[in-house]
Amino acid sequence: MSDCTYDCSSCGKDCSSRRSADFLKKPHEMSSIKHVVAVVSGKGGVGKSMTCASLAVEAARHGLSVAVMDADLTGPSIPKMFGLNERAMGSDKGILPCVTKDLGIQVMSMNLLLENEDEPVIWRGSLISGTVTQFWTDVIWAGVDILFIDMPPGTGDVPLTVFQSIPLDGAIVVTTPQSLVGMIVGKCVNMADMMNVPILGIVENMSYVKCPCCDTKIPVFGESSVDAVALEHGIPRVAKIPVDPSLAAMADAGKTEESDTSCLRDFFTGILSDIEETSKGENKDVN
Ligand code: ADP
Repeated sequence: MSDCTYDCSSCGKDCSSRRSADFLKKPHEMSSIKHVVAVVSGKGGVGKSMTCASLAVEAARHGLSVAVMDADLTGPSIPKMFGLNERAMGSDKGILPCVTKDLGIQVMSMNLLLENEDEPVIWRGSLISGTVTQFWTDVIWAGVDILFIDMPPGTGDVPLTVFQSIPLDGAIVVTTPQSLVGMIVGKCVNMADMMNVPILGIVENMSYVKCPCCDTKIPVFGESSVDAVALEHGIPRVAKIPVDPSLAAMADAGKTEESDTSCLRDFFTGILSDIEETSKGENKDVN
C-alpha cells in the first residue's frame, strides 16, 4: 500500500502487509529465542508487571530459560521486582541483559540503562518505540526458551510497534474484576486480532481475597465476569490471581523469584503447549 502510515489501528483494513516480513525486525545475530509472549493490559495499575514477572518465575520453575523485556519504558518496574540494581553492560557487539540471582532470568529495562533509577523518561512516543525495537534488535538474548514482553498499558504507539515488529507467539491479557472488563479486554483482543496475534489467555488479577480462617474466596471487587468474557472472545484459558499482600511485599523487596506462582501453573502449562505446537520448535529469525 503506497499510502500506508504504518498505523494499522487507525486504518482498520485487513491489508496483506500487516505483520508481514516488511514490518518484522530481525533479532540480534547472537540472540537465540524460541518463543515471545506479550503481556498486555487495557489500562494501568491492574498488576500487569507483577503478572508478567510471576509468569517468568513460573516458566523458570518449569526448567525453561526465561527472559523479560520491560517495554513499559516510562513506568519500568521489572528490575525492582527482581532486585536488580546494577547497570546493563554493553560492548561493540550488543547490549547484555542483567540476570536475576536465583532463577537466572535475563532482564532488559530502561531502568538498567539509566544512571539514576529515579530519572524520568520524558520522551516522545516515536523515541520510546524506537528504544523498544532496539531491546529486540540490539540486546543479546542468549539461549532463551521464552521471552515475556511487559507492555505499557493501552493500545498506543509502543504496543503497536511491538505487535508489528516482533514476531510474537501470542499475547496474554491482564485485567481485574470490574464491570469495565468486557470493554477493556475487547480493545486488547481487537488490537491483537488486527495484528494477527493470538490471545493465549486472560489473567484476572486481584480476583478474590482468600479468608485467612476458612480459605473461602471472597470476591472483594465484585463477582468475576472473566470466564464469560473469555468465552465470548474465544480465549482458551483463564487464570485467577488473588489479592495477596505477600505478593506486593515480595515485589517491593525485590524477591519476586521467591513468590508463590502456583495459581499460574496450569495456565502456563497450557500456553506453553499451545505455542510449542504452533512454532514446531523453530527459533525466531524473521529473514
Ligand atoms: P501495572 O503493571 O498494571 O501498572 P503493577 O504490576 O506494577 O501494575 O502492580 C501495581 C501494584 O499492585 C504493585 O505494587 C504490585 O505489587 C501490587 N499488586 C499487583 N498485583 C497484586 C496482587 N495480586 N496482590 C497484591 N498486590 C498486588
